[in-house]
Amino acid sequence: MKGLICKRILLKLSGEALMGEQGNGIDAGTVKRLASEIRELSRVGIEVGVVIGGGNILRGAEKASEGLDRITSDHMGMLATVINGLAMQDALENLGQNVRVMSALKINQVCEDYIRRRAVRHLEKGRVVIFAAGIGNPFFTTDSAASLRAIEIDAGLLIKATKVDGVYSSDPKKDPNARLYPSLTYDQALSEKLKVMDATALVLCRDNNMPLRVMNIFEPGAIMRLMQGGNVGSLIETG
Ligand code: UDP
Repeated sequence: MKGLICKRILLKLSGEALMGEQGNGIDAGTVKRLASEIRELSRVGIEVGVVIGGGNILRGAEKASEGLDRITSDHMGMLATVINGLAMQDALENLGQNVRVMSALKINQVCEDYIRRRAVRHLEKGRVVIFAAGIGNPFFTTDSAASLRAIEIDAGLLIKATKVDGVYSSDPKKDPNARLYPSLTYDQALSEKLKVMDATALVLCRDNNMPLRVMNIFEPGAIMRLMQGGNVGSLIETG
């Protein structure tokens, strides 16, 4: 544990992080690579909670815009996060990592129900905990779930792993003059409408003093470097 910035983290992966080069679904090689990074974190003594989105399979709001009932499509989106969670659980187990998927929706023939005290106990025992099915309610996102679970498990840091290097003044893929913010406050992210997380997730973190690191998931070893004190991505704090 010596030299690590904190003992317990909550890592948020978007569903898209699992799909690799393909346009949707789950790419086994990509899941394996992410699992080995998580395994390394656990191996050095970091307690890791993970929230995985479902966007590689289905997003409720998108389906609703095609005419599906919004609540039904959000239920489908939450189930998508369970599918991703099971894929990650399998990949971690193949690496010899103890891991549990805990779902906010009750499907306990497939995975455990989310019970906060039990989740914390798993983490204390060195098991990775994958929090699936978001917060279990429609009209929320897995960013909100990540913020909530990070606070509930008393994580020292919430890490949002994205496709870009951190928080930019504008979309770096479209604007060559986009500037990376090394650090900023939640109020700044909210008032400048920066693409960090949705407002519900930001406010939850702000009001509960949960620091957030936004960083690139496609840079191998970056999470470990961050945990060893490296300056990686953007840090967002209450201020
Ligand atoms: N979802 C939900 N409640 C939650 C979390 C997620 O209804 O608490 C649904 C919602 O339809 C969402 C989908 O699950 O679009 C997948 O999650 P998200 O879009 O956050 O995934 P990501 O963009 O991170 O891949």
